[in-house]
Amino acid sequence: MAIHTITDTSETQKTSAQLADMLDLNVQELQRTLKLAGLLQTSLEVESILQFFLDSTRETISFSSAHYKNTSNNIQWDFGKEERHNTIYRLHIAGDDLGEIRFTRNKRFSNDEMEQLENQIYHLVYPLRNALLYQAALRTAHIDALTGANNRAALDMTIQREVELSRRQHHPLSLLILDVDHFKSVNDGYGHSAGDYVLRSLSNLIKEALRACDMLFRYGGEEFALLLSGTAHPGAKLVAERVRQSIENYPFEYNGKPLKITVSIGLACLGSRDTAARLFNKADAALYQAKSSGRNCVREFTAVRG
Ligand code: GH3
Ligand code: MG
Ligand code: MG
Repeated sequence: MAIHTITDTSETQKTSAQLADMLDLNVQELQRTLKLAGLLQTSLEVESILQFFLDSTRETISFSSAHYKNTSNNIQWDFGKEERHNTIYRLHIAGDDLGEIRFTRNKRFSNDEMEQLENQIYHLVYPLRNALLYQAALRTAHIDALTGANNRAALDMTIQREVELSRRQHHPLSLLILDVDHFKSVNDGYGHSAGDYVLRSLSNLIKEALRACDMLFRYGGEEFALLLSGTAHPGAKLVAERVRQSIENYPFEYNGKPLKITVSIGLACLGSRDTAARLFNKADAALYQAKSSGRNCVREFTAVRG
């Protein structure tokens, strides 16, 4: 980002009234800047930081919309209705690309306004970089290194959140738990790296069979969970069967030798009084049924009455 230092060279002689006006303005400016700098330190969430920044900028410069885009972090954030005239700022700190912020409105931005914006952005970049780093660290902490799927910590957090959301918004939620059949014999027969290859391939295969909003977790050694939000029983059953079949039919091959891989799947849907733990236990019980029914099949939880 190019940051200009703005120096006033146009007037050297000022009346005391002009000076008083200037000082007053500068005090206001300083107060606003300090307030903004303080606010920006209070959050590590990219969205809140941008919101604070825009609220403060709006006090001095009018704009119709603002757009933050950070391709490397997959963030796109739009605020307001887009108009014809643009001013764009690329955000860089010491070689780090922080994306770009664009303002629009139906009237050109003057040079003076663009300089003001640049000055304000100067206060945004460091808090924004901290928030992006924090977000990246959180993401890494929730990713399983072997398969790239979400990990156990992510599952614990997400299942809780999805159960609450599902209750509030009255939409269905289903959980599939998947366990590789006789996985130990893959390790024993072909070596641990063959087992790792199978786990990585499985993760990719499952991701291909899912919708973008479905979430995949590797929560144990050869155990995966699939959280299907907005999906009721019939849809979940279709997904489970599709995943099971795609794995059964996939030509796994390690060091030129074919491997036969199948999975067992337990399915459960969120009931009106279920907690996240109860939903998980239901799917786990169904998985146990699938294993005892001979493996390579899908079983769903059915309540035991009496
Ligand atoms: P079942 O059909 O009853 O599920 O039998 P199984 O052999 O799959 O079950 P078991 O729980 O006995 O074996 C799971 C194996 O998974 C044992 C463990 O060594 C292996 N495992 C766990 N994590 C990893 C991993 O990251 N890589 C590899 N290669 N193997 C792993
Ligand atoms: Mg297991
Ligand atoms: Mg297993």
